[in-house]
Amino acid sequence: MQDFQKLYMLAHSLGSNDVCDMVIDRWHEQLHRHTPRICPDAVGLNIEFDFLKFDPFFLNHLPKHDVMGFGFLLDLLVALGERAWEWMSEHTSRTWSKDIKLALIRRLQCPQISPVQEKDLRAVCKAYHHHHGFGLDPTATS
Ligand SMILES: [Zn+2]
Repeated sequence: MQDFQKLYMLAHSLGSNDVCDMVIDRWHEQLHRHTPRICPDAVGLNIEFDFLKFDPFFLNHLPKHDVMGFGFLLDLLVALGERAWEWMSEHTSRTWSKDIKLALIRRLQCPQISPVQEKDLRAVCKAYHHHHGFGLDPTATS
């Protein structure tokens, strides 16, 4: 669902660290959720609300501006495994930047379990949240 990605990018461009962190927490929660979220769409039909399908543009844009957010999303993609591979494969190989592919390959080769794979929000906070005062590009808010 792209609304969360748009919210994240808007919050990031405004330097609203807490909003970025809140969105990260929702993505993390969704990863560990075992039942799908069902919500009505624009015409009232109940559909599965999956906001872990990321737009290639969003992922291609992120590493240039947000190191912490990009690290989180790489770990999230690795944790999603086959599910991430399926929706990434829906897009052409030209859609994903070379940098994204290389970063993902490097992350896949790392044998460590990432904080994303833990349910504990404190691990996510420590590893990825922006409110600690780092991660954002200092020029992004000026
Ligand atoms: Zn935090």
